[in-house]
Amino acid sequence: MSFYPSEKIQKRLLRAVKSHGTPLYVYNGDQIKHQYRRFEDAFDFKNVEIHFATKALTNMRILQLLKSLGAGLDAVSIQEVKMGLMAGFTPEDIIFTPSGIGIDEYKEAIDLGVRINIDNLEVLEYFGLHFKGIPIGIRINPHVMAGGNPKISVGHMDSKFGISVYQMPMVHRLVESLGLRIEGLHMHTGSDILDIGAFLQASEILFGVAESFEDLSYLDFGSGFKVAYRENDIETDIEELGKALSQRFKTFCTAYGKDLKLILEPGKYLVSNSGYFLVKANWIKQTTSNVFAQVDSGFNHLIRPMFYGAHHEILNLSNTGEKSRVYSITGYICETDTFAVNRVIPEISSGDILCFLNAGAYGFAMSSNYNSRLRPAEVLLEGKDGMTLIRKRESLEDLLRLQVF
Ligand SMILES: *Cc1c(COP(=O)(O)O)cnc(C)c1O
Repeated sequence: MSFYPSEKIQKRLLRAVKSHGTPLYVYNGDQIKHQYRRFEDAFDFKNVEIHFATKALTNMRILQLLKSLGAGLDAVSIQEVKMGLMAGFTPEDIIFTPSGIGIDEYKEAIDLGVRINIDNLEVLEYFGLHFKGIPIGIRINPHVMAGGNPKISVGHMDSKFGISVYQMPMVHRLVESLGLRIEGLHMHTGSDILDIGAFLQASEILFGVAESFEDLSYLDFGSGFKVAYRENDIETDIEELGKALSQRFKTFCTAYGKDLKLILEPGKYLVSNSGYFLVKANWIKQTTSNVFAQVDSGFNHLIRPMFYGAHHEILNLSNTGEKSRVYSITGYICETDTFAVNRVIPEISSGDILCFLNAGAYGFAMSSNYNSRLRPAEVLLEGKDGMTLIRKRESLEDLLRLQVF
């Protein structure tokens, strides 16, 4: 499959803009299906559970689509848990792996019956003292540096996530003295992992810890699988990783004497390349040093370039001609708001529709109302011609709805 959207998809994106305006997020449901099947097929193991990381793209229709494909959910807040239940997931389908939340939120999760991973010794002790008998998982910090950049690498020594592998003696002390029921172990080392070796190395640490627990039912390896952000960009070789991990997992289960579930929590891998963010060029502004294409959006709608330095390919859907120029693409937010610099793009005129690729994950989900801007609408493409509005564009009333004056 080509990195760039086909001509047919480009036409459908323009049709979506015609119906719903800009700025607009559009997701190709068939692409999500494709990624899901590819991920599923990569693991040659019957006891695999794929839990979509809700935070990557939190739209009820998308959650329902993933449910129909057989996915479970990874939730990091009680609101994600509740939305998952509303979307039709059962409590067993949902794994709740929060960090630093209060005890009331844990109580709600217990009442709702979802699976819970604990990532703090103090919380573990609290569970042992107050919620005896509730089966729980433990999030391990394997102390492996992996991931695309420090902001998204979460499994290393300085990370706030997980219980250190060096603290396992304390964990066992709590388990024994408080009668805790540990049913699973979890790790999530970060995002944009390229080095399968680093992932497998962290997995070895998890296997090592797992040996010391008697009655586990799952091992959860989290996520961090990278996708291509440019043509010919390297991505996680999911087939190779799937093969190696499945193989190793089977050997582990044999030695452990029980068939455990292998759980994975892909977010970005399942939805990133299904998503397109469409904006309109308002003006072309020539300065002494730059040609700026000023678009009708900003980092309030797509924060990844400013926040992570992420690269998103940008197409001019209105002009696919030969003549290109070098542009900086900027937003309308009143502070530095740069989507891209020095991009060679077919000549942009006022009114042209530009399309950001890889906008499915952490796009709309991280959007805000900064500068009192309205958040975009979302559209889902499915089948040959299907086009469904799955979130309405915000209005001024939405901005004011909760303000008291
Ligand atoms: C964010 C997150 C994921 C998903 O990460 P991706 O890089 O989007 O695949 C999975 N598990 C947990 C616990 C997370 O916090």
